[in-house]
Amino acid sequence: MIRQCCVCKKVHENGEWQKRTTTFPDIITHTYCPSCLQRELATADMDFRQLHVSMAVSPS
Ligand SMILES: [Zn+2]
Repeated sequence: MIRQCCVCKKVHENGEWQKRTTTFPDIITHTYCPSCLQRELATADMDFRQLHVSMAVSPS
């Protein structure tokens, strides 16, 4: 299972995010790399932040 950032297209391999130029295997999970995740969270709209907060404070 290879994780690929859906924004910058870097893949997570050998413990780090890096550009990959070789052919991808069949199974790829699209996610965010740390830098893109930070950017997405910073620009997320209020609904997303409210959802995030409600999830964080919801009783278990
Ligand atoms: Zn990225």
